[in-house]
Amino acid sequence: MYNNIHAYCKENKITLVVVSKTQSIEAIRDVYQKGQRLFGENRVQELVDKYGILPKDIEWHLIGHLQKNKVKYIAPFIAMIHSADSWELLTVIDKEALKNKRKINVLLQYHIAQEETKYGLSEHEGLEIVRRYLQNELPHIQICGVMGMATFTDDQQHVRKEFQHLKSIFDHLKNKYFPNEDYFKEISMGMSGDYKLAIEEGSTIVRVGSAIFQ
Ligand SMILES: *Cc1c(COP(=O)(O)O)cnc(C)c1O
Repeated sequence: MYNNIHAYCKENKITLVVVSKTQSIEAIRDVYQKGQRLFGENRVQELVDKYGILPKDIEWHLIGHLQKNKVKYIAPFIAMIHSADSWELLTVIDKEALKNKRKINVLLQYHIAQEETKYGLSEHEGLEIVRRYLQNELPHIQICGVMGMATFTDDQQHVRKEFQHLKSIFDHLKNKYFPNEDYFKEISMGMSGDYKLAIEEGSTIVRVGSAIFQ
């Protein structure tokens, strides 16, 4: 399935992050050999292990909840953290980025699903973060956009509404706070079951795992 999904994303000018969590090194190498360089993992330990073994030109994306005490393990090399979901976490990422003399790209993860268990910011929390960021309180972070996960349901109309909600959050931030900042441009939404829907609703990055490795 990799070739089809890759071609679909390319046609639509969408960034494809292949989610390789739980996949073997061998399975990941197969996709790498087809040309894929962006991979996503949701657990720090697994990410660090795979980073150590696989080719160094892979860009690793962290897509799962990140604990503050684990930021240091990924700060030297992570290409983007999709799951920035609190001010406290962002301050830790900023400190670790400084230690590594780099800027770290992050996306603000918003809570758009109905489920209680999913992590993510409210719109109010997101605004507070953006205000402080624009006052230069996080000088070693670049906020590149937003991320969200839809409710796990077969109800396409419901999922579509949640994606539209995330898109509207993005548009508001973009227009009001980042009109001239070219780096603020990403909407990370869409997984195996809903990436086509997400692209219709304005996604710029899809995170697809199981559909590629099945
Ligand atoms: C696992 C995961 C994905 C990919 O899910 P699939 O349904 O396997 O495509 C995307 N985003 C996050 C945050 C994940 O944890």
